[in-house]
Parts: sequence; structure tokens; C-alpha cells
Amino acid sequence: MSHIKLLKTSDLKATPQRLCVLDTLENCGHATLEQIEKITKEKFPTLSLSTIYRNLNEMVEKDIISEVKIAKKPHYEIKKEKHIHLYCKSCDTIWDFQSDTNAFIDKIENEANCKILNDVIHFEILCTNCLK
Ligand SMILES: [Zn+2]
Ligand SMILES: [Zn+2]
Repeated sequence: MSHIKLLKTSDLKATPQRLCVLDTLENCGHATLEQIEKITKEKFPTLSLSTIYRNLNEMVEKDIISEVKIAKKPHYEIKKEKHIHLYCKSCDTIWDFQSDTNAFIDKIENEANCKILNDVIHFEILCTNCLK
């Protein structure tokens, strides 16, 4: 879905600022507020950090963007299908890893006889570059 459509179906106006934030996240995958600020300010030099933050939060509330709280600072990403996060503790970078975790979650729920409420999975890693 295009970003304009994504915003419209969530009852948010497709402002250039919001679109720029979404473009940034599309390109970076995961970005901190500061990283988003740096890139959006190249396009909109007068945009303040608080405006960017407000726009981000509006899109988090509307479930367009999700907040990933595994690194030193919160990262943001465009909401996508359920995935695993790989987080390199050495270079503070997050990657997505696609894997079907449903069977694993079912197994835990059945064997521990519980209901998992938060099925966000992440692994702390040393990435290819940091292993060198
Ligand atoms: Zn690394
Ligand atoms: Zn992710």
C-alpha cells in the first residue's frame, strides 16, 4: 500500500512531513528519532524535533508505525508482518528476520498451559561486520 493510502485509511492527512517520515523509515528499516530528524531536516529544514516526534507518535497510535524498544534508544519502523528482531549489541543496529514463529508460540502455550500476550521476539547478536 502506498504511504498516502496508508495514512488515509488511518484517518490521517497525508502531509509532506508524515510522508517524509514514512519514506525515511522505508529506506532505513529501523531508525531512532534523531536519525529520522537528520534525514527529514534535509528536506524540511524548519521542521522541529517536537513536530517530528508528534507526527511519529500519531502514526504509532494509529498503528502505522511501531516502536521497537530493544536498542539503547527506541527505534521506529513501519508496521509489517510479525518478524523477529536481531539486535547487534556492538554496533547498536537492528535487523528484521522473517520466520514463522506461530508453531513455536503454540508449543509454549500448550506445554506451559498459558496464553502469550506479547509475542515480540528478539535476539542479541554480534553481526557479520562486528564479528570480523
Ligand atoms: Zn554489529
Ligand atoms: Zn523490524
